[in-house]
Amino acid sequence: MPELPEVETVRRGLERQLSSFEIGQVEVLRQRAIAAPKEIDQFRAGLIGARVGAWSRRGKYLMAELSRGGLPAGHWGVHLRMTGQFLWLEEPREPCRHTRVRCWSRQGQELRFIDVRSFGQMWFIPSGHECSSVMTGLQKLGPEPFSAAFSGTYLMQKLKGSVRPIKNALLDQALVAGVGNIYADESLFAAGVAPQRRSGSLSLVELERLRQSLIEVLETSIGSGGTTFSDFRDISGTNGNYGGIAWVYRRGGQPCRRCGQPIQRERLGGRSSHWCPNCQR
Ligand SMILES: [Zn+2]
Repeated sequence: MPELPEVETVRRGLERQLSSFEIGQVEVLRQRAIAAPKEIDQFRAGLIGARVGAWSRRGKYLMAELSRGGLPAGHWGVHLRMTGQFLWLEEPREPCRHTRVRCWSRQGQELRFIDVRSFGQMWFIPSGHECSSVMTGLQKLGPEPFSAAFSGTYLMQKLKGSVRPIKNALLDQALVAGVGNIYADESLFAAGVAPQRRSGSLSLVELERLRQSLIEVLETSIGSGGTTFSDFRDISGTNGNYGGIAWVYRRGGQPCRRCGQPIQRERLGGRSSHWCPNCQR
């Protein structure tokens, strides 16, 4: 599943590739890929003829500014969910059976949205409306990991008295936006904190170290173009590099890269957790 670094990698790819993209045509092959407007023709009408401007990211949501004749023309929102990915095609190519949405430039280049599991979503938000009024999931998001609002003190306040495992708390998008299984496991290892620890039992020093570890792990992954795990691809179809340096994620049974003890694997909150019982307490 794409997490913050993968979505950020996609954002950068889209912004680079679509710098002068004017949408000439849109085809929707799977209706449920469009979350809003409900009428597919309204979605198409919102995009066709619009020029795609800057892309922003909030948690795992992507939003593009649209304009017409230099005037604001709303936003285009995207969530990749489990397996959504964009592919940029300079030359015409037949769509695969997982192709959900196709957008062509005036010159016939194609931005294709492919989604095997089909949970990915798109929105068109008309001009004058807040993105969060249509993409309602935005309203529930906690702070970005890189923002000043995400501090050790913030975590202390939010997690005070909580008995849920710290791993589960990190996956909660209302606590911090954009973190998923891979980077939760990796940052807990880097911080030396066991995933089962009760959230409320972490000291301010530990929370500060966890915050710092999370930021470092995310920055490293963004720098290497996202992870190699799952089906993630950037918009040129390239896999990221992060998998090569995973400390614990998907390394159950293998020796810890720091101490040599076998990495443990356990289900927590419905997700697999990987950790070193020697390095993490
Ligand atoms: Zn270890």
